[in-house]
Amino acid sequence: MTESELAVGIDLGTTYSAVAFLDNSGRPQTLINAEGDKLTPSTMLFDGQSVIVGKEAVKALGTDYENIADLPKRDLGERAYHKPLGGRQYPPEALQAWILKKLRRDAERQIGTFTKAVITVPAYFDEVRRKATMDAGYMAGLEVIDIINEPTAAAIAFGVQQGFLNEKGTTETKRRILVYDLGGGTFDVTVMEIEGDQYRAIATDGDMRLGGHDWDQRLVDYIAEDIIRTDGFDPRDDPNVAGKLWRECEDAKRTLTVREKANISIELNGKLFKIEVTREKFETLSRDLLDRTIFTTKQAVQQAQLTWDELDMILLVGGSTRMPSISAELLRVSGKQPQQSISPDEAVAHGAAIRAGLILANKRGKTTEITIKNVNSHSLGVVGIDSKTKRPRNGIVIPRNTPLPVVAKRLFLTNKPNQQSILVQIVEGESNNPDDCSQIGKCTVAKMPANLPAKTPIEVRFKYEENGRLTVTVQVRGSNNRLKHELKRENSLTLEQLQGWKEFIEQSSV
Ligand code: ADP
Ligand code: MG
Repeated sequence: MTESELAVGIDLGTTYSAVAFLDNSGRPQTLINAEGDKLTPSTMLFDGQSVIVGKEAVKALGTDYENIADLPKRDLGERAYHKPLGGRQYPPEALQAWILKKLRRDAERQIGTFTKAVITVPAYFDEVRRKATMDAGYMAGLEVIDIINEPTAAAIAFGVQQGFLNEKGTTETKRRILVYDLGGGTFDVTVMEIEGDQYRAIATDGDMRLGGHDWDQRLVDYIAEDIIRTDGFDPRDDPNVAGKLWRECEDAKRTLTVREKANISIELNGKLFKIEVTREKFETLSRDLLDRTIFTTKQAVQQAQLTWDELDMILLVGGSTRMPSISAELLRVSGKQPQQSISPDEAVAHGAAIRAGLILANKRGKTTEITIKNVNSHSLGVVGIDSKTKRPRNGIVIPRNTPLPVVAKRLFLTNKPNQQSILVQIVEGESNNPDDCSQIGKCTVAKMPANLPAKTPIEVRFKYEENGRLTVTVQVRGSNNRLKHELKRENSLTLEQLQGWKEFIEQSSV
């Protein structure tokens, strides 16, 4: 196979990542990494000049905590990762690039060199984080041929495997699928409809800070409190000890998926602690976390304006959906047995590989494209001043879960007579209060026509495309004064910075 014919699918997960490709028979296969595993922990250890990604970095959690970066995906969209590593600040997308570099290098050992990849992102990822993911691909030397949503990828993989989608990814009968994705650090729920070659997201919701890690933490806290009671010290106080305890608890959690009880034994301060946890106890300790996912799931079904009966299936994705309590509770609230016949932690990479294969085939004119229609997962608005309270207020222009592409407009009024300029601040989020939303850009209309009375209508028009590009047009009503602004993202790296990091990452050993 020549290089140009190869393209992989990458699930760049919060806690684990996977790479898949299509084998000669066109079936997706997960590639095995250098350690011999299908999943690579998205964890890295900064060790002098080299960056160690994966299992070996996880092992160092108990000894070298300050040089470890984990869950960098959660920080995408921020300027820098939340803690310095080896005395240096890193943009989270550069950390993601190191993970991609490791994934790429390991994959190339099996399938030869390639550059093309489809990378998946959570459906709730906003534009800033999508762009940061593309930039991570660029810095890792990849040509990112598409970014698709994780639930869409999972549905494609599941559909092709189950046979309700053909190998081109199209279907005869309309299917409505709810994808419940509980990973290590995030929870994501999406209701989608597949009909013919159309993939349409109807509603999406999620919790960026809820995942398997929180379940682990409940066990860590339980054990820590036990140790405080018996021995008077808190093992969580020392980050290295906490790291070691966490590894034991994560392991025990996996045991509790298949067994009714697990033993956690850990040596701390020279003493061996042995604590037994039953599955029942674990489920009690984490009950509220499960309830939160169910609440969000119900909300997504409601936002989709559907009832449980109108859904054809519930598809479980993400390693944490292996916990038996998840399907049991979903069955109880929906009356439907959730599906999980493909490996829940490989489904996303498989779907991305199928998507990559389709893009290549389409380029060769061999197939028709499937179309994927997304919704915006966060409302987009403009900061205005509330005329009654005189306080800044988020004036939503495009509400969440609006099918894309969309053009929407909203009128704002000038504040004072003869206003010379207007500042248009664009925010993303659901709250009325702009401080609770994320700032995604701003533009200024200068050179306003002279002597406009106060309360002159200003029309703000948003054009939001499927690729996430937002074009803002501001027009003073009744004049030709018009400003067109393509969104400049606040926190993204400049071209020079990207190039600099790319070279740095290329040179460092992984
Ligand atoms: P992400 O997409 O967030 O990177 P994954 O979908 O790979 O993550 O899921 C990782 C999470 O799944 C981790 O929290 C891990 O502990 C959990 N997990 C994996 N296998 C099991 C299992 N057998 N039982 C319980 N939890 C599991
Ligand atoms: Mg995932």
